[in-house]
Amino acid sequence: MKFKTAAVALMIGVSWSAMGAMAETVGISMPTKSSARWIADGENMVQQFQEAGYDTDLQYAEDDIPNQLAQVENMITKGVDVLVIAAIDGTTLSNALANAKAADIKVIAYDRLIRDTPDIDYYATFDNFKVGVEQANSLVSGLEARFPDDKPWNVELFGGSPDDNNAYFFYDGAISVLQPLIDAGDIVIPSGQTGMQTVGTLRWDGAVAQARMDNLLSANYTDKDVHGVLSPYDGLSIGILSSLKGVGYGSGGQPMPIVTGQDAEVQSVKSILADEQYSTVFKDTRELARVTVGMVDAMLKGGEPEINDTQTYDNGVKVVPSYLLEPVGVDKSNWEGILIESGYYTAEQVQ
Ligand code: BGC
Repeated sequence: MKFKTAAVALMIGVSWSAMGAMAETVGISMPTKSSARWIADGENMVQQFQEAGYDTDLQYAEDDIPNQLAQVENMITKGVDVLVIAAIDGTTLSNALANAKAADIKVIAYDRLIRDTPDIDYYATFDNFKVGVEQANSLVSGLEARFPDDKPWNVELFGGSPDDNNAYFFYDGAISVLQPLIDAGDIVIPSGQTGMQTVGTLRWDGAVAQARMDNLLSANYTDKDVHGVLSPYDGLSIGILSSLKGVGYGSGGQPMPIVTGQDAEVQSVKSILADEQYSTVFKDTRELARVTVGMVDAMLKGGEPEINDTQTYDNGVKVVPSYLLEPVGVDKSNWEGILIESGYYTAEQVQ
């Protein structure tokens, strides 16, 4: 914490060297506690940064954009050494980050790209296009397994929040798999609703997804069944599933459509085990924390952070050097190995 340390040194009249090294502080700005994954991200980072000798200031903004802005500005004023930010809206931080740059504070975009600014140093995330590919592959194999004689399959598409850069990557990845099947007539979209501008779900809100699914069902499915729903996030899948259950899917001989997800949140793992949600995509937040701590450590010690992508993430001003981790598809056939044997969850947590 550079300003405070300097002030203390001046006040008590000691030199920097006499004080010895004081821990540097990492400001961690997370979007919301309403989803378990962000709670895990925050906890993992605090633990790993502290193990590496850093102080941390962890704040959650409850999906409120002005709130996150105020928290980040406050961290800058307090003089953190580094900011790690998972943005709510990736386009709203440009001014704040110009102030961070002026104060020589390093910035890492965490999981979500921060757009429209030159003032970010690195991006730590997963292969977001591949997340969408995994979701669509699982949707298709689920359709083949559960509805082998029902082609063409009736499918509806959901997208993530249009202010989150990741949402476009998830959608595009999924469409890269689904479009050939749509073109071949194996998949139809009875609502005709496609494209992020139409199928996006602001703030990743499960209630919004549930309401949209209700509307899709009443407008398009009075005389046919829905076989699959592309859902980009477990919190949306929960809303979609309750809408489907509300009109009788999953009981009385009406099979549950194939519903995908992301994040392997406990509630959705339980839902998979109960044969409701079909699959999810696991992103190991411990690994994302490890990559982020490594980046910070290298930057502050004058080294070169490890990156593995220098092409994909153009934020509108520059291509941000990135490290992409691998997402892993999870369903009833492999959940134990991936989620329990890896120590991410205990068996009790998901039963
Ligand atoms: C993250 C996903 C998450 C979604 C909703 C995205 O930016 O990459 O893991 O499901 O936000 O929180």
